[in-house]
Amino acid sequence: AFERFDPDLMLVGASCTAELIQDAPGGLARALNLPVPTITLELPSYQKKENWGASETFYQIVRGLATEAPAPKLEGAKPSCNILGATALGFRHRDDVIEITRLLNQLGIEVNVAAPMGATADDIRRLPQADFNVVLYPEIADTAARWLERQYGQKAVRTIPMGFQATCEFVREAAALAGVDPEPVLSQHGSHMPWWARSVDSNYLTGKRVFVFGDATHAMAAARVAKEELGFEVVGLGCYNREFARDVRACAAELGVEALITDDYLLVEETIAALQPELVLGTQMERHIAKRLGVPCAVISAPVHVQDFPARYAPVMGFEGANVLFDTWVHPLVMGLEEHLLTMFREDFEFNDAAGPSHLGGHAKVEAAAKPAPEPEIAPVAAQIATQETISVLNWSPEATKELSKIPFFVRGKAKRNTERYAAEQGLETISIEALYDAKSHFAR
Ligand code: SF4
Repeated sequence: AFERFDPDLMLVGASCTAELIQDAPGGLARALNLPVPTITLELPSYQKKENWGASETFYQIVRGLATEAPAPKLEGAKPSCNILGATALGFRHRDDVIEITRLLNQLGIEVNVAAPMGATADDIRRLPQADFNVVLYPEIADTAARWLERQYGQKAVRTIPMGFQATCEFVREAAALAGVDPEPVLSQHGSHMPWWARSVDSNYLTGKRVFVFGDATHAMAAARVAKEELGFEVVGLGCYNREFARDVRACAAELGVEALITDDYLLVEETIAALQPELVLGTQMERHIAKRLGVPCAVISAPVHVQDFPARYAPVMGFEGANVLFDTWVHPLVMGLEEHLLTMFREDFEFNDAAGPSHLGGHAKVEAAAKPAPEPEIAPVAAQIATQETISVLNWSPEATKELSKIPFFVRGKAKRNTERYAAEQGLETISIEALYDAKSHFAR
């Protein structure tokens, strides 16, 4: 590989299978005495996962190469920073780096190096020359940034600029470290998101129940945007990377929910089914889960499929990123007028519960084609209830079942769950219409 590719740096490590054979490729590579730095990696495949591997590799590269102390700053030189953490295969990293570089430049801050994505060995050597670091993806860059801080006193901006408010906070924090004025950038942010979220068209988003899951950084940032900027109610928050479990637990506690820290997708599915959210913000895995459960979903975090490496400019960070988030998250929901009409005219041949949202029409057609014959009036609802929640042990009277079917489909699961909880607490064996309304007023209190 050295002869063929003529690299500036060699990385040597083992896969999980090679780890069992214990060939110690790192030691062998060092014994070759190649004329370029050789960094050997110890990655315990049976204990750690991708993000940890990327973080450890980046840390070892930085430690190995960024050894030159910073040169004294020239008179009149602009403040500068590094952007740390973007990688190949990162969720929207390509465009986030463009967006954040633009933002920093508007503040009068130069970007010294963006790494690891796109950086050369020489770029890594230049890392200590910056005044401070921007840790865009802590999963990848936190360890390296802490080392740079210990070694060279480089402070770090740690606010993740996802959403409008967090981007403003990020601008203030970076400006403070650079000693520049944030106001010109803040007053000309150009983001449409705050107005869009405030406009009357977004009223119906208030209180929509959302479940958030992904890597810790994106999940926490998304949960805050959902709650503080769009007025959603966050009913669940979780992450799959245990290294950041403590942060996610603290964030969940602030939002008044319990954190779900797991890499078991079945547990995530169970939790979503039990919480009955109206929107899921997750990874491609949650997209499949949401599809099975019939819940709208938008992707906010890796792992992602090819459609989340779009050709167009689609950052999720910075002011333009906030615009992208708004559009992406609202898109899967039923729009206000349709939601209203679905509630009023549920017998309509075209716009009805079973048909689902009109903008997801293809799905509805497949279902309609697969349906053998029209069912009696109550049966589809009962069937729907049975599939929505299998843990139900209570009997629903036919009248109560019919009444339940009048509740719009996207909140029906939640209403059913609350009613059953109430009935169980009251020791009721059968749920009557009265019990349904008692439960409604009980939970409305
Ligand atoms: S699981 Fe990963 S590290 Fe192990 S052999 Fe497969 S690709 Fe390689």
